[in-house]
Amino acid sequence: MKEAKIGTRAIWAGEQDQLAFGATQVPVVHSVSFGYDDMDEWYDVAIGKKAGHIYGRNTNPTVQAFEAKIKDLEVAEAATSFSTGMAAISNTLGTFLVPGDRIVSIKDTYGGTNKIFTEFLPRQQIDVVLCDTGDHATIEKEVAKGCKVLYLETPTNPTVKITDIKRMAHAGKEAGALVIVDNTFATPINQNPLALGADLVIHSATKYLGGHADALGGAVCGSAELVEEIYHYREINGATMDPMAAYLLLRGMKTLKLRVDKQCENAMAIAKYLQTVDVVDSVYYPGLEDHPGNEIAAEQMKQYGGMLSFAVKGGVDTVRHLLPKLNYANRAANLGSVETIVGPSRTTSHVECTPEERAAMGIPEGLIRYSAGIEDIEDLVEDLEQAFQSLPTSQFVTA
Ligand SMILES: *Cc1c(COP(=O)(O)O)cnc(C)c1O
Repeated sequence: MKEAKIGTRAIWAGEQDQLAFGATQVPVVHSVSFGYDDMDEWYDVAIGKKAGHIYGRNTNPTVQAFEAKIKDLEVAEAATSFSTGMAAISNTLGTFLVPGDRIVSIKDTYGGTNKIFTEFLPRQQIDVVLCDTGDHATIEKEVAKGCKVLYLETPTNPTVKITDIKRMAHAGKEAGALVIVDNTFATPINQNPLALGADLVIHSATKYLGGHADALGGAVCGSAELVEEIYHYREINGATMDPMAAYLLLRGMKTLKLRVDKQCENAMAIAKYLQTVDVVDSVYYPGLEDHPGNEIAAEQMKQYGGMLSFAVKGGVDTVRHLLPKLNYANRAANLGSVETIVGPSRTTSHVECTPEERAAMGIPEGLIRYSAGIEDIEDLVEDLEQAFQSLPTSQFVTA
């Protein structure tokens, strides 16, 4: 459905092949196995000569509709799915990396991804080089030394740093590397890494794609050849998406454009409001002109996203007072849902780090991650206002 606009495709794409009985909605097919009376037909499906399903760990009709929809939204040749976003990442890396390989990435990747880089890949004798996020020259230099994979994520967690995908994809291509981009924060509504030169794009569908914080899932999109290799690795290793999750994600994705547009609008308004608040030391949002990634973001993103973060004076004490006062925010380790979600980085994305490590990464102890929901903006601003006003003034006289 590549001729229609993305909001229309989010609703219609990928579903037609899976409708049965005249139903207008994709069914949840819970059956684990699919039976055949004709031995030759069974064989043909089993060897992939004929379309069909054999066993739920490999393929499933509901899951296939999810894959067809995300493939369409990322304008990819193919897509495959996973039980979680982390399964998408670990299986993709597992497909291509073998002992002796070298991978170049950035320091600010998602916490789980960072654990793979620092804990699991090195013990398989895979050389991991993590560059300062946003330091394009250093990334280019490391990539030029030769690597199997260049792994990027933009915007990043929690200070929403921006990496130039087109420039980095070019560097990757020159070095013969596979360029992989985690597009979870941007969503296909705001950014299509494949169109910017990446080979593979990864999503935690748990976040914006599902959008309702009620289903886990992951996806990888790219060329048919690469995706087939990843699919094979996943079908054997078994990190399969559950059909019920696929159904919930499909339902959520129909409103992706509406939700993400509103979340971006709300995030921009919240970022501007926070800049006027005395207790707030700094605001990180790529839509603000003083954000170091503002120009590149304007170039490669359609909107600046629904994620921002801000640091408060008084550090952890202020965070402890402030967050429980909010009426319209879940205090949770999640993002991208219809509800606004807040959390301190020291508890959520960077809980494994020491205060010193967080400081070295440019993450103040008083940093709060804010995932804008789709609530009315007046209510969100008023909610923050009353929470700020409730703070004991004594806390800030020195700040
Ligand atoms: C949450 C997240 C992941 C991991 O996804 P899960 O579905 O929780 O496994 C990966 N990358 C980014 C950017 C994320 O926000």
